[in-house]
Amino acid sequence: MALLLNFFFGKPDDWKQWFAAEMPELDVRFWPEVGNRAEIDVIACGSLPAGEFKTFPNLKLIISLLAGPDLLLQDPAVPKDVPIVRAGDPNGDTMMNEVTLLHVLRHHRHMPAYAAAQQRAEWINLPRLPARDRKVGVMGLGVIGLAAANTLKSIGFQVAGWVRTARKIDGIDVFVGHDQFDAFLRRSEILVNLLPLTRETENVLNAAAFAQLPEGAAVINLGRGGHIVDADLIAALDSGHLAAATLDVFRVEPLPKDDPFWKHPKITVMPHASRRIEAKPMVPRIADAIRRLHGARPLENIVDRARGY
Ligand code: NDP
Repeated sequence: MALLLNFFFGKPDDWKQWFAAEMPELDVRFWPEVGNRAEIDVIACGSLPAGEFKTFPNLKLIISLLAGPDLLLQDPAVPKDVPIVRAGDPNGDTMMNEVTLLHVLRHHRHMPAYAAAQQRAEWINLPRLPARDRKVGVMGLGVIGLAAANTLKSIGFQVAGWVRTARKIDGIDVFVGHDQFDAFLRRSEILVNLLPLTRETENVLNAAAFAQLPEGAAVINLGRGGHIVDADLIAALDSGHLAAATLDVFRVEPLPKDDPFWKHPKITVMPHASRRIEAKPMVPRIADAIRRLHGARPLENIVDRARGY
């Protein structure tokens, strides 16, 4: 029995020390020093290089260190019968709350337009609205989306969310499924995408969706690059229908030097820099998942392969 950890955040010595304190009996190995592959029964990672998942004959559990399990689900080497659980904080991510608030406030207060006006030495006057008069729409009210939406609500924004399954949330208007998508878009002056990338959500931000947004709306993509049809976004900005966009995620990362997003005057490019994943708090959650795997308690935070998240 051994855990293979393929991390891209935190230092190896820190991880070792935290696991030694949390679960001293656990044999923890660090990619790529795998040792005997037959001894590995749990892998915690964001992904592994192509084909690697097939080389662990006794794999029983995969722990996703990323909020979005899309890379794992797209990997044909990931065995279909091995459960995948998520190791993120079930209460959301404070840095994702910060970055959502940052970009929403930036568009709410027209900062991109003021920055452009400054380049022209032009003293402009744009509408100033209090947050209570601004309608923000959050696509996805999951672990991260709900905490971010609640942060926006606490500032006073009129917040709505779009989800798959109906529920009531105090102070947030919930729109459900395809039938209510257009109504959700029509009221969203600032749109924040925090969906997982699935078969259903791929290309969800396309020309038809942008056309439903109010004139002058702003789009903030914090989900995945595959959610946006790039050419449709540029067309909606160039036509003047959308005022601005902030993109943190892209179909190809790092964004290629010749991508038109870099130089577009209405687009802010962020290099997938929304948060730093906290390694230490993940250790007890990884340990708990391993105890559940070997004990009587059922696994928690399981990724539903059929839904894709
Ligand atoms: P969750 O899996 O906890 O929640 C997903 C949410 O999306 C749920 O509310 C779900 O609805 C909704 N949803 C899924 N499919 C659909 C659909 N077809 N139509 C409408 N709603 C849908 O995810 P998290 O909140 O933890 O994370 C969301 C995503 O944010 C991640 O998958 C990742 O892509 C992105 N992310 C980006 C980061 C960055 O650095 N930019 C960092 C972290 C995450 P329901 O509640 O009804 O199931």
